[in-house]
Order: sequence, then C-alpha cells, then structure tokens
Amino acid sequence: MKEQTKVLIVGAHHEEIEAECPNIAAALALAGCHVTILNPVGGWNWTYIRSQGEGARERVLADAAAAAKELGCEKVVWDYPVAQVDRYKPELIDRMAEFLIASDPEIVLMHWPLDSHADHRAVAQITRHVLYTASNISPDDHPEYRGPREIYAFQTGVSQAYHFIPDLLVKTDSTTMACADRAVACFGNTAPEYVPIWRKNFHTKAEYWGNLVDTPSPAEVLKFIGPKLPLDGFLLKKILGDRVISTPFDRFFYNQDFQL
Ligand SMILES: [Zn+2]
Repeated sequence: MKEQTKVLIVGAHHEEIEAECPNIAAALALAGCHVTILNPVGGWNWTYIRSQGEGARERVLADAAAAAKELGCEKVVWDYPVAQVDRYKPELIDRMAEFLIASDPEIVLMHWPLDSHADHRAVAQITRHVLYTASNISPDDHPEYRGPREIYAFQTGVSQAYHFIPDLLVKTDSTTMACADRAVACFGNTAPEYVPIWRKNFHTKAEYWGNLVDTPSPAEVLKFIGPKLPLDGFLLKKILGDRVISTPFDRFFYNQDFQL
C-alpha cells in the first residue's frame, strides 16, 4: 500500500481552520492525505466560553474534535489560553518541536505572521521557528526526521491577515463545501451566533478569490513559504491536481515590501 502523505495544519485556536480554510483541509483529506490539525490554543479563557458556565471547555473541545472529523482530519488541541500565548512561548516551542518530529509531515500549512490577532502572530512565529529548527530544539537525536518538503501559509479573516497575496488557489467544489458546512456547524453547541458568520466568511472569501480563475470557481488560497522552491514540481500540486492553480500575480516586489 502506498504511504499516505502526512499533512500538518497549525491553526492558532480550536475553530481556526474550520472557520477560515476548511475546504483546503477537506480537499487534502479527500485526496488521501493523513491530515492533522494542531490548535495550540483551546480558547477556554475566552469570556464568551467562560460565560457558558460549567463544562463549557469540555463542550468546546468536543465540538472542535467533531468539526475536524467532518473535514476528514484529526484534531489535536493543546488548550493554551488565548490571550497568553506569549507567556507560554518557550514551552510551546519545545512541545511543537517534539510533535513535529514525531509526526514528520511532508506538508505543513501555517499562519501568515502579519495578522491583527496576537495569538495568530505568536503561533505563526513559533511554527516557523520550529519548522526550521525542530531537530536542534529536541534534546534527543532524530536521524529519521526528514522535515517538511513544502510549507504554506493559509489566509485568516480579511480583516486579520494583511499583505496576504496568495501564490496558489485551491479550488473548492460541492463535496469540499459540504464537508466545510458540516464542520463549522459542529460549533453550534458552543458558538451558535458565530457559526453563520464563519460560514458566510469562508464562502465569501472563496467566491472572491475564485473570480481570479479563468472560469470563475470558488477557491481558498495559500502562500508558498519554503523551505525550498521545489524545482522538480510541487508535491501539493501532485496531490490536489487540477484544484491547484497558480495566481496571476507578479512577485517582483511582494517579497520585498516588508521584512520580518
Ligand atoms: Zn483565529
């Protein structure tokens, strides 16, 4: 049997991926990848979750697991407090390095670091650091660890990620959208007022970006981060085939208009 391609998606908090780029996760799972969604932040100290009283945290975690399942993905929530990610940075770096080495994904999707949400920025920086240094962070030797072949950034909300000019469009279809709609609906137990908003947001973003395709077709977007330009061909393209389309943007200045 052919080995499954392992994909790791690191989204800050428990509903991040379902609310922002669920179709990409579903498409990768449908294409046969083993997709793990890692959410370092559980969100339990959000006032809107706390205000729901006893057992809210457990219900949120159950919603999050059910949602990922609808996308065909596995979910790992570490449950760090949303407003205190910076406080736990060293611990998160060590823990993510071990997680990465143990799971050894070929493709990683991560946050874009320019984002108005502090937890998104922190998780982007932690992820990026760990992706390039995991084997140095780990106190043990891991000669078997290969490191990811391709790293991409997904887009959060249009009022969140900025300077986000995508490199690739990933076309959605009725199957991935149905998975996405079922996934976001899972948060109805604990965030009923947000579910229709999140749903509308990812549909609207997909419609917007889809207008860049020659024959308009809703799509979610990615930026290529590294670690190396895959001159022999993108693994993501091999997996997702015709769903993946290059965007018609010139890159002459986009990589130079800011420095991190
Ligand atoms: Zn978020």
